[in-house]
Amino acid sequence: MHDQREVTEARLARALTQRIAPAVHSGALPVEVAAWHAPGEPVPVADGLGADYAPFAVGTPWGPPWSTTWFRLRGQVPAPWAGRPVEVVLDLGTRARDVGFQAEGLVYTAAGEPVKAINPLSTWIPVPAGATTFEFFVEAASNPDVLGGGGAAFEPSPLGDVLTAPRDPLYVLARAEVCVRETEVAELLADLEVLGGLMQELPLEDARRWELLRGVDSALDALDPHDVAGTAARARAVLAPLFAAPARASAHRVSAVGHAHIDSAWLWPLRETVRKVARTTANVTQLMDVHPSFSYAMSSAQQFAWLAEHRPEVHEKVRARIAEGRFVPVGSTWVESDTNMVGSEAMVRQFVEGKEFFAREYGVDTQEAWLPDSFGYSAALPQIMKLAGVRWFLTQKISWNADNRFPHHTFDWEGIDGTRIFTHFPPVDTYNSELSAKELAHAARNFAEKGRAHWSLVPFGWGDGGGGPTREMLQRADRLADLDGSPRVSLHSPREFFTTAEADYPDRPVWSGELYLELHRGTYTSQARTKQGNRRDEHLLREAELWATTAAVRTGAPYPAARLQELWRTVLLHQFHDILPGSSIAWVHREAEQTHERVRHELEDLIRAALDAVTGDGTTDMVVNSTPHDRGGVPALGVGVPESTGAPVQVSTDGDGTVLDNGILRLRVDAGGNVVSVRDLVEDREVLLPGTSAGLLQLHRDTPNRWDAWDVDAHYRHVVRDLTEAESVVVNPDSGDGATVVVVRRVGASTLTQVVRLPRGESRIGFTLQADWHEREALLKASFGVDVHADRSAAEIQFGHVFRATHENTSWDASRFEVCAHRWIHVGEPGYGVAVTNSATYGHDVTRSAVDGGRPGTTVRLSLLRAPLSPDPEADQGHHVLAYSMVVGAQIADAVREGYRENLGGRDVRGAGPVEPLLRVEDPAVVVEAVKLAQDGSGDVVVRLYESLGGRVRSRVDWGFPVASVTEVDLLERPLEQGATTVRAGGVSVALRPFQILSLRLARG
Ligand SMILES: [Zn+2]
Repeated sequence: MHDQREVTEARLARALTQRIAPAVHSGALPVEVAAWHAPGEPVPVADGLGADYAPFAVGTPWGPPWSTTWFRLRGQVPAPWAGRPVEVVLDLGTRARDVGFQAEGLVYTAAGEPVKAINPLSTWIPVPAGATTFEFFVEAASNPDVLGGGGAAFEPSPLGDVLTAPRDPLYVLARAEVCVRETEVAELLADLEVLGGLMQELPLEDARRWELLRGVDSALDALDPHDVAGTAARARAVLAPLFAAPARASAHRVSAVGHAHIDSAWLWPLRETVRKVARTTANVTQLMDVHPSFSYAMSSAQQFAWLAEHRPEVHEKVRARIAEGRFVPVGSTWVESDTNMVGSEAMVRQFVEGKEFFAREYGVDTQEAWLPDSFGYSAALPQIMKLAGVRWFLTQKISWNADNRFPHHTFDWEGIDGTRIFTHFPPVDTYNSELSAKELAHAARNFAEKGRAHWSLVPFGWGDGGGGPTREMLQRADRLADLDGSPRVSLHSPREFFTTAEADYPDRPVWSGELYLELHRGTYTSQARTKQGNRRDEHLLREAELWATTAAVRTGAPYPAARLQELWRTVLLHQFHDILPGSSIAWVHREAEQTHERVRHELEDLIRAALDAVTGDGTTDMVVNSTPHDRGGVPALGVGVPESTGAPVQVSTDGDGTVLDNGILRLRVDAGGNVVSVRDLVEDREVLLPGTSAGLLQLHRDTPNRWDAWDVDAHYRHVVRDLTEAESVVVNPDSGDGATVVVVRRVGASTLTQVVRLPRGESRIGFTLQADWHEREALLKASFGVDVHADRSAAEIQFGHVFRATHENTSWDASRFEVCAHRWIHVGEPGYGVAVTNSATYGHDVTRSAVDGGRPGTTVRLSLLRAPLSPDPEADQGHHVLAYSMVVGAQIADAVREGYRENLGGRDVRGAGPVEPLLRVEDPAVVVEAVKLAQDGSGDVVVRLYESLGGRVRSRVDWGFPVASVTEVDLLERPLEQGATTVRAGGVSVALRPFQILSLRLARG
């Protein structure tokens, strides 16, 4: 037989695009269009509906970047169309690709009823059956494609802020017509797309492929290209036998879950996400009115809260579908946050605020974590999830790994404490599936558990303002339920998938430790001010809760629960996976910096008021210790008079350098202001590697191949400049809190002022960098080359730490050339180590440095500042103050203590006298992470502790206030089976596993 395959395939492709798709709408008649251009930011719906409209012609430009135009569409339905489905087709002038990165609209009736959205691939508006006239209003947002090409070009652009964007219109209104929808043509289109797509995925040796080819050819013979509508049914009849063949017994099983990944801010500001959510959910509820069978999963309690506040008319429709169980809140968190950088208690609150919102608003107990797009996953998460009542975890981001293919798609993920959680990576490798044959075939081929497990999840729907699932996707799902050659597709809710997949695969493989994303390593560093605001506010929240609780218990002061919740939610929102990582446009980061600052002021007010209440009136000068460790004679979580801090630091000259000596450390600073020697006088050893200096500033070229704000590529290390030249070096003798050396360096257009401080009585060197930073595409590092033989480094994560190799033996080790740490990173050999702590830095690298002919030392570097050009061309420009410390002779316990201390400076207060802490913990391995009043307003005190060193520990926890009962609770403060605590007079004895988190609820007596 002659091979006509390619001819038939080309015949089908042309018929689909040029004959059949255009025939879905017939009889097109023009619609009367009028418009009103909102003068500034978006207006309330009522204002848009009641605005003063002027005639507007198709073919006219509209919409400067970020502006809003309201269109009014009026027309009549011709009498001969009675009884047929009638739709208005509105093309705002978008491309039929790059969905989610262009103009969008939300359609309302004149009465303010939401209808559905207009998106690049969903341009239709249904005219109610039987209507003879219609009137619609469309709130159209002129959102620019900031990155270009739907996010692939990474050219610096002024479009990312309304303050810098040009004012010329971006779009031309392309079409506004009323038409008949030819349903049989639409069905034929779906038939041929599904069969044609499946055909392309089958092997050439598979007879089914040829069966489909012959069938398609015959169907196209039956279709009259000049009367598509009149002959569509005839063509479909030819295809019917092909759909009758059932799927093969071994076919992969797919749970298709309606979804739209809507980034809470990214290439648009927060306010636009509010509208993106409204548009997408309006589409979903409209689709649910017509298609009874599909479920839609939406994450992020924040997005539901926005809908309730700003678009209550859409929210009511959503609420009704939630009650039916079809619109499914998922994810359990306030937003889809980053998980690398979010602090311990904040990671807890993501789940607490998320789960409590879903339970209170909708009566829904979410049981899964849904973070498809965050940039790697902390090994603390399994325990946090489990303690929040989460059973299942979903992501697909690790499929983006640049170097190593992750071995599993369904597995148990084991965290640092040993907790395991059922985890699924959809093998379809996207969270925006169209349910195309190509995607489904990829999911089946890619699924790593083949032969042992049978189910995978496919999230389908356009994200980010593309509008979510479409009726075309549902047509595909219907046809793929049981079709020879295809995976079997079932429309499921996430819970249906997880329970099915869990039962299907009882004996799962285990992955232990972090889910490191081998990409986007620059997100630990980009937009340093956003990160600093987050870190500072997280610690202020700790202080505000601690002191407000202390004030409530000690003085009966009212607990500002509502204000604290609002401030927490604000900080949690800004931990979204494109805000805290620094990958958003300028507008987002400009607002984030302002918001973090507002939160800081409000928290400082709360802390001040609480401390005023607990310290009382008086003239005793005291220090507040908000850290979980005793400090300078002031107990942890208490207020007291500090002890004197040791002998003054001796300063002397040594040739052209300076020597600083506090009796514990002796530093030598050369004429360039470089700390070229750190001698540990207690252990009598030189700490630095030969030829290095402590805190050496190094400037790298930083030009990633793509994803500028996201990525640091390994080749950044090829080009480096050590900043050892000083413009000035000023030595300040010890005037009370240690001696300092102030070093001013200039590089390029930037000025870097480094203050090196040797305090009294401590084995710690403090560094403060004030940067007037004007470099572009550069990465500034601070380096500590230490003479310590360490095969691995320890880095703080939430409620513990992870170890990572310092060598590059395997491709997995090598790929971790830039890593995330919270407040400290530690390298050590038995009996001796060095910690580097920081106040706002997350990016680090740790390498082995050969000295003395190959004997390895260890170099720890902080990634202080970047300056990517996309998506924010001004990212990181300007003023920064960054603090970090080198802690000499440190064990991990010292690193934990100094990490808290670096971030919780002692506050000076004056009052009547010392304030006893609410509780004391005997063993310093047990760390108090949070002290607060209970979420339920009962007045119970909730204390969150964890074992911080990775060992087993038994410790007393004693309280300094009357306690009637003690209950172990989960993160939502619900009782757990007592396991860790034994009650004793005035306190409890707790026994903790390595890295165990323990929350205690203390009912006041
Ligand atoms: Zn995302």
